[in-house]
Amino acid sequence: MSMDRYEVCVVGAGMAGQLTALALAERGIAVALIGPSKLPSEKDPRTTALAYGTVRALRRLDVWSDLDRDAAPIERIEVNLGRQASRFREKGSATKLAFSDGLLNDQDRWEGTPLAYVVENEFLRSALHRRCARHTEICLVESPVAGLEVRSGDAVLRLEGGHTVATDLVIACDGHASRLRRASGIRTQTGDFDQDALTFTVGHTLPHMHTARQVFLPGGPLAALPLSGNRCSVIWSVRREAADSMLASGSDAIAGMAGNTLRESLGELTLHGPVVRFPLSFLYAERIYADRLALVGDTAHLIHPLAGQGFNLTVRDAATLADVLYEGRATGLAVGSTSLLVDYDRRRRADTVATAFGTRTLARALSTSERLSRTATSFGFSLVQRSDALRKLLAKEAGGDLGSLPSLMAP
Ligand SMILES: Cc1cc2nc3c(=O)[nH]c(=O)nc-3n(C[C@H](O)[C@H](O)[C@H](O)COP(=O)(O)OP(=O)(O)OC[C@H]3O[C@@H](n4cnc5c(N)ncnc54)[C@H](O)[C@@H]3O)c2cc1C
Repeated sequence: MSMDRYEVCVVGAGMAGQLTALALAERGIAVALIGPSKLPSEKDPRTTALAYGTVRALRRLDVWSDLDRDAAPIERIEVNLGRQASRFREKGSATKLAFSDGLLNDQDRWEGTPLAYVVENEFLRSALHRRCARHTEICLVESPVAGLEVRSGDAVLRLEGGHTVATDLVIACDGHASRLRRASGIRTQTGDFDQDALTFTVGHTLPHMHTARQVFLPGGPLAALPLSGNRCSVIWSVRREAADSMLASGSDAIAGMAGNTLRESLGELTLHGPVVRFPLSFLYAERIYADRLALVGDTAHLIHPLAGQGFNLTVRDAATLADVLYEGRATGLAVGSTSLLVDYDRRRRADTVATAFGTRTLARALSTSERLSRTATSFGFSLVQRSDALRKLLAKEAGGDLGSLPSLMAP
């Protein structure tokens, strides 16, 4: 039986796989995107906060024109230690921190893009899928992968159903439980936050003023991200035991509990649609390559959603890998060369370590009711609140615009 052959195979057609296929195809690299493309049968109520660096990439990949009607800008971010914090308030400490897109001067900005945009995952996945389907450099292969064999000159993927595909390079985007990563023997650091994210959409009586709000309650952070109209997406991380009893009390009761925290800024809340639970755990791959294999997205790092950085980190992975392969090819190297994969790993290390372990530390520190930890955080808040330079740094971090950026995301 003849075997299909592609220069690069991206395995997993979720948001990471679709974005990676587009980033490579944009650099003239032909790609097979392999995996079931169907949306999960249960509606995904999640939203994704897209840092403005990510929005630049989506514009350049010609995906944004399909999204910008439904995308809601974030012009201001408010972080609050929550009502309970007043019990711990010390002299010179603060419980509230705010920063806005006004902190970024015009030179830092790109066509007036705000700090970030929020889009519903359903729209984002559909827009990425439509763009992949019409890209001439992308071939969609709608089948799960059953196995990978690495040979001396290439790699062979075995698809469910028995068909095989040969390639110079496999890019694994098959999620945090990645079969390909496990088969490659790449070691990971893992952990459990003992929290679940309860996610749902609410309507509200007061305007959100394009402000993203994050309140750190003792059990975990509650975020309300602005959507189009008078709606917000709520992501409430709570201890697993608490999630069980909250879900047992019913969806309206959960929205009511969120309303107790958000009423002052958003007025009365009404639940739109279901409350869906996502267990939160941590994973960090010690290497993001093996022989003829590169990892991108949750396959390489699964992080706490409190800073809304998981997909943004993925876009930086994909755009960096596209740069590395494009530059390597220009010097005559094959895309599966180990030296290119080592370079990819090296270029991504500082950003992924800082984001993955930084958010893990934050999630742990801010999900505690211990006096010392909350007092220290509150003191840190007041330092940042008084310093324009620090707040500007945080605004740029939220926008995913720190450090040297891959060409797809550069201003
Ligand atoms: C509550 C919550 C809120 C979040 N909010 C934000 C946010 O605001 N901003 C942000 O940047 N990030 C956010 N994230 C993170 C973001 O949602 C994830 O990083 C992203 O969805 C991961 O995409 P992925 O494609 O890497 O993985 P997945 O979505 O897990 O996709 C993996 C894909 O691989 C496929 N697959 C699996 N096995 C195989 C196989 N054997 N063969 C072929 N295909 C296979 C699956 O079918 C699936 O399509 C949030 C996460 C959570 C949980």
